[in-house]
Amino acid sequence: MKIHQADLQISAVSPQQYPPAILSEIAFVGRSNVGKSSLVNSLLGRKKLARISSQPGKTQTLNFYLIDQKFRFVDVPGYGYAKVSQQKRQDWGKMIETYLTQRDNLRGVISLIDGRHAPTQLDQQMVDYLKYYQLPLLIVATKTDKIAKGRRQQIKATFKRQLQLGDQDQVVLFSIVEHYGQAEVWQWITEKIS
Ligand code: GDP
Repeated sequence: MKIHQADLQISAVSPQQYPPAILSEIAFVGRSNVGKSSLVNSLLGRKKLARISSQPGKTQTLNFYLIDQKFRFVDVPGYGYAKVSQQKRQDWGKMIETYLTQRDNLRGVISLIDGRHAPTQLDQQMVDYLKYYQLPLLIVATKTDKIAKGRRQQIKATFKRQLQLGDQDQVVLFSIVEHYGQAEVWQWITEKIS
């Protein structure tokens, strides 16, 4: 998809700060350093709109990006960063839960998982959570360029089995380095927001 305008509309913590719930939203979740900023920037054709994390785990706000005045991406702060305090972890949990369970205009969640390894326990928890709330879910396996070409396609089946995904749950292989996966991700997003 060709994007003309994409701007950070607001960084929010609580629902009072969210923008009006009139446009469709797609949220992005994943472990710190999984490649979330890279994916968001690549989808939007921007180099630095979503900040590539120099300090993983630092951002603890929901970042709402307004795209072509038509829909929004919501960048959810990454989980699993070891140095985050217990208190911050709890605040994070509440903030995410509130957003994911109370946002009527949320049309789908893209869950990023490092394609080089088996999903972590936190990845699994996030996927279980999204399924429990019946949120439309797309799994994006990141950094798959680092895997031998012949083994890449297996990741889809492996993730489906490990994460106990259903037939309707799609896994897309993505690489910022070798530039693949973008069209499939856009196709999924377009379906959800239209
Ligand atoms: P975030 O913390 O989830 O936002 O992750 P970033 O987008 O900041 O990426 C973390 C690191 O992984 C950076 O050094 C990126 O350059 C690298 N990275 C992200 N996507 C890919 C990818 O598809 N392939 C490879 N090889 N590296 C990637």
